[in-house]
Amino acid sequence: MSSELVSHGPVVDVSQAREIADDLVVIPDRGAGLVPNIGVIGGSDSVLVVDTGLGPGNAENVLAFATEYAAGRRLYLTTTHFHPEHAFGAQVFAGAATYLVNSAQAADLSGKGPGYLEMFRGLGEPVARRLEGVELVTPDVVYGDTHDLDLGSRVVRLSATGRAHSRGDQVVSVPDAGVLFTGDLVEAGQFAIFPWFPPHDTDVSGLRWIEVLERLIGTGPRLVVPGHGAVSGPDVLTDVRDYLELLRDETWARCRSAVAEETIAAEVEALLVQRYPDWSGREWVTKGVGCFCAEFTA
Ligand SMILES: [Zn+2]
Repeated sequence: MSSELVSHGPVVDVSQAREIADDLVVIPDRGAGLVPNIGVIGGSDSVLVVDTGLGPGNAENVLAFATEYAAGRRLYLTTTHFHPEHAFGAQVFAGAATYLVNSAQAADLSGKGPGYLEMFRGLGEPVARRLEGVELVTPDVVYGDTHDLDLGSRVVRLSATGRAHSRGDQVVSVPDAGVLFTGDLVEAGQFAIFPWFPPHDTDVSGLRWIEVLERLIGTGPRLVVPGHGAVSGPDVLTDVRDYLELLRDETWARCRSAVAEETIAAEVEALLVQRYPDWSGREWVTKGVGCFCAEFTA
């Protein structure tokens, strides 16, 4: 954990918001742990907020920022997936914004939300403090696979990707600006986050994740807003895909030779850290190895 995370907990800093396209703002994560990139996307009638930050305090700041930015326009909220720093502030938007998500994510929120709340409370006092008063809310609108949200003069497409980083991942694309919000399907400058916590949570699928990235690469965005890390060009999609394929290939080569999983994890982590020396989040390599071992087919 960073020293800032230890002392203050994960803090969304709305003063750092910057416009990356016309009427489209990102509140950046500033590289802070458990802080996501948050989007505020405007149309002539409405404004869509993408992700809430961890806990009600962060979400209140995001809502205040979005309300001022909207200047009277109607507010919508969506979340890229159910993980706490992305969605556990949604309660604050009740009555102020219409909260809409894909059905698989709604199921994650109700089924897995309480367990994740407990798990994240165990990450230390500063994080637990940020999670005080969290109430898991039911989204106002739940869609199936895709939903075109008309903000007035701009239509934003919400798309469920199918199981990858979580069971209910969704991406948000803004076609007129060529911008794609990926949630944790993409991290920039960090090892891919594998929430592989057997026996409690084994929903993450490395194989499906690679397939999802292939599809996203095919959509040809101009700018990618990752779940964590810098707003990037489309190359970040191929970078993550290439990383996941390498992780799969190096893991499976050792599975084929019946190497023990612990040894595989140690060897593959050493190899990938050498390959990506600047990336943070090294602890996620081992989780990724566990996931790919479970998906191994001879
Ligand atoms: Zn996540």
